[in-house]
Amino acid sequence: MNDAANSAIAHLIDGRLHDLGDGFNVRRMLPHIQARHVGPFVFFDHMGPVSFAPGRGIDVRPHPHIGLATVTYLFDGAIRHRDSLGSVQDIRPGDVNWMTAGRGIVHSERTPDAERAAGHAVHGIQIWVALPRDAEEITPEFHHHPVSTLPVVERDGVHVRLVVGEALGLRAPVRVFAPMFYLAAEFSAGGRFILPAEYAERAVYALDADLSIDGETLSAGRMAVLAAGREVEIAASAPARAVFFGGAPLDGERHLYWNFVSSSRARIEQAKQDWIAQRFAQIPGETEFIPLPAQ
Ligand code: MN
Repeated sequence: MNDAANSAIAHLIDGRLHDLGDGFNVRRMLPHIQARHVGPFVFFDHMGPVSFAPGRGIDVRPHPHIGLATVTYLFDGAIRHRDSLGSVQDIRPGDVNWMTAGRGIVHSERTPDAERAAGHAVHGIQIWVALPRDAEEITPEFHHHPVSTLPVVERDGVHVRLVVGEALGLRAPVRVFAPMFYLAAEFSAGGRFILPAEYAERAVYALDADLSIDGETLSAGRMAVLAAGREVEIAASAPARAVFFGGAPLDGERHLYWNFVSSSRARIEQAKQDWIAQRFAQIPGETEFIPLPAQ
């Protein structure tokens, strides 16, 4: 075991479990007191795995976002996204949904009809990426990139898919606004992967089995924020899934309140008032909404 000064791991993060209702648990890894963000990644929820009985499913009613992009990636199941731009899109394992909220968007996330009727399992990750200051108020957009369009590297017993950004000499099709990367890895027993030092801020999340990072153990369900400036070897002695992500440091701090992210506290207050007054655009065909939480 390395001593602390020489450790590849700067911070170890234990998630907090949140029950979103109906037994649907998420493990929230970011923000955390030890790591308010990693590169532009300001929020990280590990959803499930959860099994829904026939007739049950996810119903995240319409709610607003500003100042961020949401990134959804599934390992199992399906989620139907609808938004105030008129987008209607089912996401399935290996696809990426990237929604740029910019100056404001409203979306809902629900289990598609067929999966709800049959019963199904859901397992995935939802991340929020803070937009750079000069892009916080851009026009909202929604992009879906199917699994077949994402770059893949397979070597040394590890299958790695580039979900977002640039890494390993590859570039994902998702349009991003700052230097970043997000890799989804599946290790076979004995698999090993070298994560280069190219980004100043990086983290590793072990989804379902322990990993070794330069010989130090990262237990399943924990996140390691890596020390800057050195490549690390990530290894698994049993089959394991993990994600690696990070980027250049954010251009200043961000305020987070509910579903809003901004460099300006006043802008967050404006978004709260806009939601209370129903000044956001609506999702065609949807009338429900999540009220602003009590203070
Ligand atoms: Mn949302």
